Amino acid sequence: MTTLKRVDVHVEGVVQGVGFRPFVRSLASRLGLAGRVRNDVDGVHIEIEGALAGVEEFLTALERDAPALSEIERVTVVSARPAGHRGFTIAAGVPSGPLRPLVCADRATCDDCLRELADPADRRHGYPFINCARCGPRFTIVRGVPYDRPLTTMAGFGMCQACAAEYHAPGNRRFHAQPTCCPACGPRLRLRDARGTELCGDPVAGAVTLLRAGHVLAVKGLGGFHLAVPAADERAAALLRGRKHREEQPFAVMVADLAQARRLCEIDEHAAELLTGRARPIVLLPRLPGAPVAASVAPATRSLGLMLPYTALHHLLLAELAEPMVLTGANVSGEPIAYEDDDALTRLSGIADAFLVHDRPIHVRTDDSVVRPMAGEVTVLRRARGYAPEPLALRWPAPRPVLACGAKRKSTFCLVQGRRAFVSQHIGDLENHETLRSFVEGIDHYCGLFGIRPEVVAHDLHPGYLSTRHAMEIRGAELLGVQHHHAHIASCLADNGDPGPVLGVALDGLGHGPDGTLWGGEFLRADLTSFERLGHLAQVPMPGGAAAVRQPWRMAAAYLGDDHHGLDVARRNPWAEALALAPTAPLTSSAARLFDAVAAVLGLRDKITYEGQAAIELEQHADPAERGTYEAGIARGDLLVVQGADLVRAAAADLAAGAGTRAIAGRFHNGLADAVTRACDTLRDSTGLSAVALSGAMFQNALLLEGTVARLRAAGFRVLKHVRVPPGDGGVSLGQAAVAAARDRA
Ligand SMILES: [Zn+2]
Ligand SMILES: [Zn+2]
Repeated sequence: MTTLKRVDVHVEGVVQGVGFRPFVRSLASRLGLAGRVRNDVDGVHIEIEGALAGVEEFLTALERDAPALSEIERVTVVSARPAGHRGFTIAAGVPSGPLRPLVCADRATCDDCLRELADPADRRHGYPFINCARCGPRFTIVRGVPYDRPLTTMAGFGMCQACAAEYHAPGNRRFHAQPTCCPACGPRLRLRDARGTELCGDPVAGAVTLLRAGHVLAVKGLGGFHLAVPAADERAAALLRGRKHREEQPFAVMVADLAQARRLCEIDEHAAELLTGRARPIVLLPRLPGAPVAASVAPATRSLGLMLPYTALHHLLLAELAEPMVLTGANVSGEPIAYEDDDALTRLSGIADAFLVHDRPIHVRTDDSVVRPMAGEVTVLRRARGYAPEPLALRWPAPRPVLACGAKRKSTFCLVQGRRAFVSQHIGDLENHETLRSFVEGIDHYCGLFGIRPEVVAHDLHPGYLSTRHAMEIRGAELLGVQHHHAHIASCLADNGDPGPVLGVALDGLGHGPDGTLWGGEFLRADLTSFERLGHLAQVPMPGGAAAVRQPWRMAAAYLGDDHHGLDVARRNPWAEALALAPTAPLTSSAARLFDAVAAVLGLRDKITYEGQAAIELEQHADPAERGTYEAGIARGDLLVVQGADLVRAAAADLAAGAGTRAIAGRFHNGLADAVTRACDTLRDSTGLSAVALSGAMFQNALLLEGTVARLRAAGFRVLKHVRVPPGDGGVSLGQAAVAAARDRA
């Protein structure tokens, strides 16, 4: 008879809201072990029992196979007397005791606070600003350090006696909870009309009455203002789109709970854990056919971005509305979201019919984060609320503090001290005064919060980027330019704690190449200190330059020339004019422009209204079950060149022959994944490298990522992909910082 062994395991680090408990349960079940797992105040607590060999294997696999988003800092194992558990269960969290008062990311309202919120006998019953030491606003209200109430935007709210008593009582859930408050002493909710006049009555009930009547409601949240309409109300959703200047980017939807989420999207255990985790990101999920969502909410896409409520105010609103609600950043297309009260009233005056506001200022504008389950794991596509400013652990320390200024689109900066990399929240496209101000003030704010004085400043090679210009103005630090796609691959290496060298595949938009052309479909040999270009997508002209980015049909013209089979795209547009511009147009090897061309050929998109739209819609249009493919030629010279034009021509010929556009889009994705794999195969022969790092904005595309990963693995490659930072330009600052730190070590 085997002896029963039991251990209690405590795991500290980033292990909540990252799929850790389901991972533990499936690991235990696989090994035939019994016990239970629950979240506690600073991690995850596991009781595990069974055969000794199984328990030992469990402890090994726990760290080795932990979910990608998790960051295990410490595992403590204590032997215990077997408890006779039957099966393995996920128990409800029983956190107790205060969290360490560090500046952490904002946290979703905890279960204890939700119970009080719903309890008519509690003094915080129905109070939209309820929080405790384990939940509530953090980063968005902190003005400086030490993290103490006077240095938060709660400074103006003196605690009442009851709140002060809780705040000072060790063992109380609100012990040293800096933002703690109640209806007697804390912020107050108000409902105002479009002119700013306060409306009387209960603000939440009043707001919901307006929502039901089809009005657009602005809601002040944790990191900024949102705009809300009921998600099933097509008239209201279309009205909101119209007022946001017909921007076509999909809106996110907030649902009250998992039950509501399951009526809209496919929710597996992994998705459920992401949705209910304390970071509460927007999770991009497959939409159910016939889901009750208005057509204007997320046009031309089969996915839907869902999130669960993360403040008590959201909980109250959704409980009253009793149906899912669009909750999208409050801005006019292209501008950052509003976060200051007066500014919001002015900027949103033509958009919102009413404002649900409060008197607790937001110190740092912070958008909702976006994550996407892909290739069996999750990738962060926009890292902001709920994640920033918490540092990512680097595998190797930086000798001197580093500031990396990032790129232009989806801008972030990154500060490194030792092994900690503080990647800023998503700031937005650095092309106007407002985002530049957020960027510059953000750098100062982070330097102050974390006590960092950068001695090395890394930047993009593009001299015109505002981030590069900002780097140039910093005195007293060593400057280091990092090529854009090297930064992408280094970002993927840092994300995975891998030093390289690897074959780096950067499929991206446009980046400054050292040869003066625009790069963006690159095969590199790269490690953290250097890179060499081994190959690229064949260059094509961009007729009209920047106009070709806004008008994908121009890329179709550049790729097809006169070989357009009389397709509609050539008849709809001034094709010959574009061709006439081609000989003098800038050349690019960008993968994004290749996607643009195919999207235009298929008639999905001649012009775009937001960055990356054509590529996103091409993925959403494609049949994921399509097995057919197109073959792109690969030319071998000094550099390997992948003939992207072959894919565009095959798509056009297929369409002319009557094939369906969904099948064609699927074949294009398969063809590109095939081409990447064959190119890597050739490069493995010449370099001996058998690890591939995938980065660049095109790898936010699940179909492309999953197809490429599967093919590379089948060909025997080890594949690195993004997890904690975006594959797109939001991850570039981490890559620049990793390169700067590595060169400083060398
Ligand atoms: Zn709480
Ligand atoms: Zn109070």
